[in-house]
Amino acid sequence: MTGEQHRVCSALAPFGTSIFTEMSALAIRSKAVNLSQGFPDFDGPHDLLEAAAKAIIDGPNQYTPSAGLATLREAIAAKMQRFYDVEVDPRDEVTITSGATEGLAATLLGLLEPGDEVVLLEPCYDLYPPIIARAGGTAVYVSLGQPGFELDFEALKEALTDRTRAIVVNNPQNPCGKVFIREELTRLGELCQQHNILVLGDEVYEHLVYDGRSHHTLLSIPALRDRAIVVSSTAKTFSMTGWKVGMVIAAPGLTEAVRMSHQFLTFCTPGAFQRAMAKGIGMSHSYYRDLLSLYTAKRQRLCDGLDELGFDVHAPQGTYYASIDITKLDFEDDLAFCRYLATNVGVAAIPSSYFWHQRREGTHWVRFCFCKKDKTLDQALERLRRWKR
Ligand code: PMP
Ligand code: GLN
Repeated sequence: MTGEQHRVCSALAPFGTSIFTEMSALAIRSKAVNLSQGFPDFDGPHDLLEAAAKAIIDGPNQYTPSAGLATLREAIAAKMQRFYDVEVDPRDEVTITSGATEGLAATLLGLLEPGDEVVLLEPCYDLYPPIIARAGGTAVYVSLGQPGFELDFEALKEALTDRTRAIVVNNPQNPCGKVFIREELTRLGELCQQHNILVLGDEVYEHLVYDGRSHHTLLSIPALRDRAIVVSSTAKTFSMTGWKVGMVIAAPGLTEAVRMSHQFLTFCTPGAFQRAMAKGIGMSHSYYRDLLSLYTAKRQRLCDGLDELGFDVHAPQGTYYASIDITKLDFEDDLAFCRYLATNVGVAAIPSSYFWHQRREGTHWVRFCFCKKDKTLDQALERLRRWKR
């Protein structure tokens, strides 16, 4: 058989290799400080490492129930009550997935019919468009305003048709760091109710919300309690992005659809990591508070450092990414800037235009992650300082 007969399916082919893979590979090749792909250069709590190791040694190391271990689902339900005052039934409203990545894919594949339209608020995370396409759906894009990333409800209403099945809301939003306020979500809830639309909430950065803001899960909005599917992850909250323990929380009918596809994607997620994360999620408020203090300080360190160097900095309301606007710098676009920076300055970042389907809307934005040791952030800033001189 020739290579031609083995090509990537037409739904996925246009999307190519993810920008995160590309930039991390460039960082390694260039020996650059990697502030591109968002993963910490430190591990999460030692207790959780020990719990996972013990769970492996003690076993069992077999398949878990497809929906996930009951202890973890119960810990998640308890957390939803503790943080958001939302009552969730761990038996038929919580599903454990292999990261939010699989949770999002399982949701879209389990719910969409061919021809369904899904509204994406740009800039948007890279996995939604290809999975929607693979499910036979159509992504409909609504751009948030710039530079403040506000949601224009008139534009959103105009984007809705009788084929609209869902809206995806990534809150806090990667890469721009927007945090939706409760009023916006309430308005969104009313709109979804009127048009009978589902909302897929990607809330993986739920615990990284700064300056006294609060995270409001979609499930806490009354109009959305039965029409929101909320996907989250332990990756960011416990600094173990490689463990891939994610979760999907939704009303029983929606959960059934998610579980239907989840069983055919991964069936289940490694049991030892689930057991360790049940312990993690159950940790006291002080763990979550300390995590937020740690990231508040890192956000300040990076943003102040970039600001002192004369960059036009956009500090995030949430997430662990800060952006700069490179309009005034002499580069063709964000990709050219990021390639130059990794290769010649030794700092890797993400060209944010990859979060827009029309890349030109975002070619002035560059994203740096600050989920790194202080000395890593300082090293990156020092390299930028030398270049600026
Ligand atoms: N959604 C968003 C917005 C993300 O930034 C990420 C990356 N962590 C994911 C989903 C994927 O999460 P996970 O690593 O748990 O698969
Ligand atoms: N969420 C990470 C980021 O935005 C990337 C995760 C991945 O590579 N899939 O940097």
